[in-house]
Amino acid sequence: MKDLFQRTINYLRISVTDKCNLRCQYCMPAEGVELIKHDDLLSFEEIADFTRTAVEMGINKVRFTGGEPLVRRGFVSLVETISKIEGIKDLAMSTNGILLDKFSKPLKEAGLHRLNVSLDTLDPDRYREITRGGDVTKVLEGLEIAKKEGFSPIKINTVVNERQHGADAKMVEAYAQKNGFFIRYIMRMDLEKGEFWTVEGGDGGNCSICNRLRLTSNGLIKPCLFSDLGYNVRELGAREAILQAITNKPKAGTESHTNSFYAVGG
Ligand code: SF4
Repeated sequence: MKDLFQRTINYLRISVTDKCNLRCQYCMPAEGVELIKHDDLLSFEEIADFTRTAVEMGINKVRFTGGEPLVRRGFVSLVETISKIEGIKDLAMSTNGILLDKFSKPLKEAGLHRLNVSLDTLDPDRYREITRGGDVTKVLEGLEIAKKEGFSPIKINTVVNERQHGADAKMVEAYAQKNGFFIRYIMRMDLEKGEFWTVEGGDGGNCSICNRLRLTSNGLIKPCLFSDLGYNVRELGAREAILQAITNKPKAGTESHTNSFYAVGG
């Protein structure tokens, strides 16, 4: 599928939940958030049906996001269903890694290809502070097990405040190199202010080659993270919602007053 700017749209990011087991400072407000009601969440059948249609229309790369995808009950069965859809060449997941020790093996067996794991520091106190209570040793254990289970490549997403990387990022970089992981630096973004940068070590944030659509867990297809456009899959049907999202995909992101990273999946 091509959009009006001749960009090939072949990448679907699926947010399976807005729930998370962490409260990262740059993602969720300290007071918590009003979560999407259970009845408003797309069922696994609805997500699978939508993805089949999207693949028929040209999607061949799919990524599961959240919130934290591993907190959604039965998630591994969804991975298994989606991995069987012919035409998907790349099936990945973004995770905070807290539950990777438990889920690495079943995810691998279910057909997941690769992982991006969020890790901003190795310092336990700094990690607890950034995530408002998380235990970094769980993430490191999970990464060890994921590596043993044969996930490759494993990419580390590190949020940084400036291009000149600080001590935290340098710590993670050394750890990644030692373990054969690829590191990507994501500059802290601001949806309301429309502040974003290209991902260092990736292609996110580069509007001129943007190939992505996002499906939220309550059934909105969003053509751009930095836009308030969204098309309701349940009302329009998958095909029409995708067509409208692609036809109206902006040339470049501006700002969003309705999106949130935990509900759209970054
Ligand atoms: S801001 Fe929008 S158009 Fe630009 S890279 Fe992000 S999603 Fe794509």
